[in-house]
Amino acid sequence: MTIQPLPENNWRIELSKMTIPISVRNDPLLSDTLGTLIEGGRISMKIGADLHRNAKLPGLTALARMIKQSRFGNSVFFNENLHVNTTNVCTLACRFCAFRKGSRHSEAYSLSAEDFITRIEPYRGVIDEVHAVGGLHPDWTIDNYSEMYELTKRNFPNISIKSLTAVEVKHIASRSGLSIRETLQILKESGLDSLPGGGAEILVDSIRDRICMGKEKSSEYLEIHEIAHELGIPTNCTMLFGTIESIEDRMTHLDKLRSQQDSSMGFQCFVPYPFLEDNTRLPEASLASGEEVIRVIALSRIMLDNIPHIKAYRMNIGDHLASIAINSGADDIDGTVGHEEIMHDAGSTASVDYDSTKLAFLIDSAGQEPVKRDSTYAKFEPIDSEPISDWQILPIIGQ
Ligand code: SF4
Repeated sequence: MTIQPLPENNWRIELSKMTIPISVRNDPLLSDTLGTLIEGGRISMKIGADLHRNAKLPGLTALARMIKQSRFGNSVFFNENLHVNTTNVCTLACRFCAFRKGSRHSEAYSLSAEDFITRIEPYRGVIDEVHAVGGLHPDWTIDNYSEMYELTKRNFPNISIKSLTAVEVKHIASRSGLSIRETLQILKESGLDSLPGGGAEILVDSIRDRICMGKEKSSEYLEIHEIAHELGIPTNCTMLFGTIESIEDRMTHLDKLRSQQDSSMGFQCFVPYPFLEDNTRLPEASLASGEEVIRVIALSRIMLDNIPHIKAYRMNIGDHLASIAINSGADDIDGTVGHEEIMHDAGSTASVDYDSTKLAFLIDSAGQEPVKRDSTYAKFEPIDSEPISDWQILPIIGQ
């Protein structure tokens, strides 16, 4: 079974009715791009690269905001979730990763199924999603994950399990002597609801060989997601940028994702995030400025005409940039989170312990309307924002 696309208003018609800002109208590159989208066309990788290099940021973000408005009006979505990282023990050593540890490292940990639900217990009745990813544990098989998911569903039947990167799925299949399809089917029966999409990095193998040698190939990432979609498991997809990739590599990445989406239609949301600066890992990384982060988010909205949601991943980009991103094409923001290690080990200081009130305030103060959603974008609830007197929007990257 292939997942059907989310109900979508006819955004291209809505787009054609909108007032065109001067910053778009007076720029031939941007106004041509708008015309192409209104007429049902798709933005080529070449035009995308041109927009990336040459479009002025106010016009680029105005165009992306128009497209977001044409799909979702002023709504910005979030859910109440908890991140639990299952183990930091990993057989790989991706060069950008600050999270993984060798199995004998003093800070190595591996959660049992009981530990996993103990992490969730304080959030009972609050969250509706647990986001669980981790390293490639040398000893774990599918049984460890099935036990974890089954125990979670027994204890928290209303919590959606969003878990496993594509490379974790590949590792579990290999460790368990199963095909990818068999692995995902068994895990689905154990309670797996969706995949978060992490680990895409850049879907160009020559770059992957330099930054994450040993990880799945680009084609494997796409194939694992395709199989998930065929099994009725929705997924997100991601992009890590600001390492060593070129603008053309970013365009290739976006093009591969939208081609995959054309055939399997199971990507719910695209999550672009920059490599966080670190002097010890990947010193040759180009790094992305705040301006570039916003530029990439806007371009993602313009290029990915068939993936409905674009996320401002505030765990990585911080609240300041996230509040700009939701005016620059992003319609979704992650999340109340509760606890997170991967981005924080890499240097993020974004606050994890938010509740709906704080997130709603962040969205409202950026001039948008907060809407709480469930894990798979099936239920929506507008939230009234209340002023918070003793709270300030918290740090940006590196602070
Ligand atoms: S990014 Fe994932 S696969 Fe790579 S070293 Fe870190 S935990 Fe392991």
